[in-house]
Amino acid sequence: MFIAHLPAGYLLSRFISRGRPGQSGAILATGMICSVLPDFDLAYFYLVDGRRTPHHDYWTHTPLFWLVLAACLALVLTLSGRRSQLILVGVGLANVMLHLLMDSIAADIRWLYPFSDLRFNLVHVQALYKPWYLNFIFHWTFVAELLIVLSAAVVATRDWRLWRGRRLAAAAAR
Ligand SMILES: [Zn+2]
Repeated sequence: MFIAHLPAGYLLSRFISRGRPGQSGAILATGMICSVLPDFDLAYFYLVDGRRTPHHDYWTHTPLFWLVLAACLALVLTLSGRRSQLILVGVGLANVMLHLLMDSIAADIRWLYPFSDLRFNLVHVQALYKPWYLNFIFHWTFVAELLIVLSAAVVATRDWRLWRGRRLAAAAAR
């Protein structure tokens, strides 16, 4: 997926942050960064690798890497007595997994790597147009992306209005 990772991350992180008003800002920020974190490998793809290997084949697009990283972070936080921050590891991992799940719709993701090279994808997008990204934009899966973007925009606008209303009310009460 192209444009839906961040909005989907917003919706998921917002859901996880409910009932945790003291940490909601940190949860939203961590979740949204992690919703696009695997695609930071595009810098390596373009600048170092010279576009030789599809970036979905890097370890940054394999679940086990993120599971091990999250387990290490959780261990460090637990041992250092910062258990209250474990929720940030949880929201980060949930968003990375959502990213891989969304990538797995039209691109092949190796969910079992390094134990198996088996690739999982829901649909195969045929190469009919040039440049390559038009194949994805003209595919029906892009409608799903637009719906996610639209949903997140509606929810974010509502959240922002609520937040602004509360700030104005607080200012008027002073
Ligand atoms: Zn990706």
